[in-house]
Amino acid sequence: MQSTMQDAPLTIKRIINHGEWLYANKKVFTVTPGGVQEATFYEIAKRAERLAAALAELGVAPGDRVGTFMWNNQSHMEAYLAVPAMGAVLHTLNIRLFPEQLAFVINDGGDSVIIIDHTLIPVFAKIRDQIPQVRHIIVSGPDETGALGKTLDYETLIASHQPGFEWPELNERDAAIMCYTSGTTGNPKGVVYSHRSLWLHSLASMTANSIGLCEADRCLLIVPMFHVNAWGVIYTAFFAGTELIMPQMFLQGAPIITMIRELRPTISLGVPTIWNDVLHTAENDPAADFSSLRAILAGGAAVPRHLIEGFRDRYGLRVIQGWGMTETSPLAAVAIPPAGTPRDQEIDYEVKAGRVVAGVELRVVSDAGEVMPRDGKTIGEFEIRGPWITASYYGVDAPDRFHDGWLKTGDIGTLDAEGFMVISDRSKDVIKSGGEWISSVDLESNVMAHPAVFEAAVVAIPDPKWDERPLCCVVLRPGASATAEELREFLAPRVAKWWLPEHWCFIDAIPKTSVGKFDKKVLRALYADGALDVITLD
Ligand code: ADP
Repeated sequence: MQSTMQDAPLTIKRIINHGEWLYANKKVFTVTPGGVQEATFYEIAKRAERLAAALAELGVAPGDRVGTFMWNNQSHMEAYLAVPAMGAVLHTLNIRLFPEQLAFVINDGGDSVIIIDHTLIPVFAKIRDQIPQVRHIIVSGPDETGALGKTLDYETLIASHQPGFEWPELNERDAAIMCYTSGTTGNPKGVVYSHRSLWLHSLASMTANSIGLCEADRCLLIVPMFHVNAWGVIYTAFFAGTELIMPQMFLQGAPIITMIRELRPTISLGVPTIWNDVLHTAENDPAADFSSLRAILAGGAAVPRHLIEGFRDRYGLRVIQGWGMTETSPLAAVAIPPAGTPRDQEIDYEVKAGRVVAGVELRVVSDAGEVMPRDGKTIGEFEIRGPWITASYYGVDAPDRFHDGWLKTGDIGTLDAEGFMVISDRSKDVIKSGGEWISSVDLESNVMAHPAVFEAAVVAIPDPKWDERPLCCVVLRPGASATAEELREFLAPRVAKWWLPEHWCFIDAIPKTSVGKFDKKVLRALYADGALDVITLD
């Protein structure tokens, strides 16, 4: 039997129509070297129409790829609205990729037009001659270098076209955005989001069981718009009426603290390394004021316990942990304690990677492909499926990443009866010692709780007796001191005895990936090259 329901396509156009009407006067704040630039949702929607008219005149047709090489800012948001709504595909380019990877993703994605921020011209110039199919480069901001040859000026294009572009009626399953994984192993792989998947993901982000973005919120968007669509927040914000603060290149602890004090966001999203920097910087900044925030959302990597406790104890601020991947749009699990949890026990849930959000399904599977019980104890690989989870990669076969219609996440851990996931490691980072798993994530979280430690990353190193043993790489806080013996003693009551690392090294900084996560591949390579000064305890 057929339903009697209408079949309105779930497209970006409908998100724009909603936001520009109901939330016309809501604002987007872009932080610039010269001050804060403001624009309303209505102004941004009209500028998106002008941009679409300009792109159409440049020959951008349905399905064509338009790349962006930009910071988090207003123009980037305009491209987020205009490009998919006109039927083309927005390809967000990671501004921190190595030049050869950047050229690869532009060519592989088939970008014909690219919009770039003028401050990124020198980076982009390195690959201009390797991307012959790019017909037009549009520069936002003054292009004074001439390093890219002939370019078009973003503001001139906007000024010379009229608003009123008619968004076409599209198929909700059409491609809207493409984003490549960071390619920590091999070349990056393309994931293509549809209008429908972005729409449903936005609704999920508005639910109170997840991030609960709403009209009362003003969100400081630290996660880059080139990394998993800034966790989908651009569309969610336009849909929900959430104001946005765009930090551009000001991503260190001190400017973030200033932004929070002066622009008073209610929520902010970023990876744990950024929040660690903010927490440590705030300690020496009596003017730090987090009172406007209802929560900060941390994800993309394990959130250490001390970080959650630090914000809670010093500022009464809740850190909400989330889990997701480029392949999952990314919102898939959010660690909000179940109702009725006593305040002093909430931390036991908050340290978990997340609780499955409505709309996706998650399971743990053994090496043999068997589905494991949801008992919070049995370890295996997480597999996920749902309407905003990728079913394939763009242009490549990757059968090893899928299993009976589920995406294999490469994350190892346990799932419990209430839907909370605990991640012990990524499969490529696991430490298997004497046939048993040691969780690098747990070791790191515990070492980072030591007051002298700023950051710590644990990797596996070969061992003749146990196959692998953990090596703990530590960055001390400025002016602080601690020896390997002291740190091991600190760990002793916190983890199993046989987990205790005997190998330690003290370094100036943990290498980070292009999106600010610990880069364990680099650490392992440094160790293999003998470039780390390793202390081995008895
Ligand atoms: P990259 O490969 O560059 O890290 P993604 O952003 O897609 O690209 O990373 C997704 C991965 O990040 C997940 O598979 C998982 O390993 C890790 N991750 C994300 N959130 C969490 C979390 N809350 N706890 C632990 N790991 C996480």
